[in-house]
Amino acid sequence: MEWKPGGVSDDVEDRRGGGGGFSGFGAPHFGIGGTLVLLVLSLVFHRDLFSLFSGGSPADRPSYSAPDNAAQNTEVQFVSFVLDDVQGTWQNLLPAQGNRQYRHAKLVLFRDSIDSACGEAQSATGPFYCPGDEKVYLDLGFFDELQSRFRAPGEFAQAYVIAHEIGHHVQKLLGIEGRVQRLRESNPAQANPLSVSLELQADCFAGVWAKTTEQRKIIDASDVEAGLRAAAAVGDDRLQKMATGHVSPENFTHGSSAQRTHWFQAGLNSGEISACNTFGTRE
Ligand SMILES: [Zn+2]
Repeated sequence: MEWKPGGVSDDVEDRRGGGGGFSGFGAPHFGIGGTLVLLVLSLVFHRDLFSLFSGGSPADRPSYSAPDNAAQNTEVQFVSFVLDDVQGTWQNLLPAQGNRQYRHAKLVLFRDSIDSACGEAQSATGPFYCPGDEKVYLDLGFFDELQSRFRAPGEFAQAYVIAHEIGHHVQKLLGIEGRVQRLRESNPAQANPLSVSLELQADCFAGVWAKTTEQRKIIDASDVEAGLRAAAAVGDDRLQKMATGHVSPENFTHGSSAQRTHWFQAGLNSGEISACNTFGTRE
């Protein structure tokens, strides 16, 4: 993928610090202004006021030169680039194709576990979008897993994951997510097939974004391959087989590898929201 590190997106919330401590990107509890005030006061009084206010241990103090930060910083900047690109794209496409204004979602980086409007989540759940607070939750460790466990390496595989989650946000803005939620409640027997359609549509929306990146020469054919591999890698049949050794389609909640690849491609080929009607053409 063609991209340049360009800082951290305004829409990224870094909550990897845990326990009120500092991560590389600022202070979750004090904000930048508060941090500066505390820093100045600490210098004036020759005391560490951070630990006074946060009750933290020495490990909680800012460590701007931790050695393993560089790789992580690049990853955060990559996430920022993709997030801004995907949201910028929908800002143009949604009014034109969906007759709706686009509203930015936030992306929360976390580690291990996190509280969201959708409840507490663990890293093991994988990345997810919470319609209640309109935020995408991502543990960067998932990208390592994409590579090692799901054998889908490459930047575009990671970009696909973010584009898929923002696809769920687009579904919320279009009112599709709400409709599906009500249908699920009134007809629990259809809950799984409805969930599959919702997921496949998010794949298709990721494809719609991918088409614009192709036009803008951000990606090439090998990136598309990587995206298709990622879509196939996280298919329910493959995940089930890895977990249980067999495949039971009635328990699918995301769709098979073939379905996920098919719908990603449908979005990629057309670049149109209207090509993503995964609800009308269920197999
Ligand atoms: Zn999804």
